[in-house]
Amino acid sequence: MPSTSFRELTPGIAPDLFQSESAALEQARAKHAVTDADATDYRRSLGELIEHFERLIRETRRLIGHSDRAEREMQSLAQQLMHRASHDALTGVLNRSAVIERTTRTLRFNSAVMIVLDIDEFKRINDDYGHPTGDAVILGVVDCLRRIVGEQGFVGRVGGEEFTVLLPGHESASAALLAERMRVAISDTLIVPPVNRRISASFGVSINEIGTGFDTAYCLADAALYRAKRGGRNRVEFADQ
Ligand code: GH3
Ligand code: MG
Ligand code: MG
Repeated sequence: MPSTSFRELTPGIAPDLFQSESAALEQARAKHAVTDADATDYRRSLGELIEHFERLIRETRRLIGHSDRAEREMQSLAQQLMHRASHDALTGVLNRSAVIERTTRTLRFNSAVMIVLDIDEFKRINDDYGHPTGDAVILGVVDCLRRIVGEQGFVGRVGGEEFTVLLPGHESASAALLAERMRVAISDTLIVPPVNRRISASFGVSINEIGTGFDTAYCLADAALYRAKRGGRNRVEFADQ
């Protein structure tokens, strides 16, 4: 009997996935019911059953393989969707809603430093060199932040060229050190051709006790950032707390 796959048997909606196996089973039942059938008949019937049974095993293995692959693809798609829902598409850091969620969750059980930073005179970079170069500058800034923050906290993008760094458990001295390292990394080492002027960012820092809400932590740091901008940019300011 020619070997036909279940897929070939079932173009579109299959009337019966096991049509040929059912027919073989019926024949075997009929043969089994004949009490005086001779050995040759039984042998032929058994041979056909074996052939069908082997095909059944092959096809079942193939279908299980398909189903395993489909399940793995679904899992990977679900992971990609979850990642996209909480991460910024351009830079890969946490997006605004994830920053709010992560900060709120962290501050429920821990104190944390919140740093808000904004690239200085970024509009001019876009105007003079174009939007793609502006994007490259954003990526360069995020690279500096990630390198310095490492496993100590979370980097997020809360606006076009505005970022947050959350440092759970940090105090003002260690936060000042890290913020200053970020500032220097951007202003002294970040080069994004064809931009031929210094790239810099201004920083605002708030120190937050357990139980502080996101809005308070963010607004305090943002007010300090505003002071850093007014004070001449490319500097770190702490919130009045
Ligand atoms: P300041 O020093 O006061 O921050 O001046 P600024 O020019 O940086 O002013 P502001 O922070 O208001 O500039 C934001 C600009 O960022 C305006 C907007 O066109 C640009 N922008 C926002 N999102 C993106 C982005 O994803 N890519 C690029 N290339 N530009 C963006
Ligand atoms: Mg700016
Ligand atoms: Mg801005």
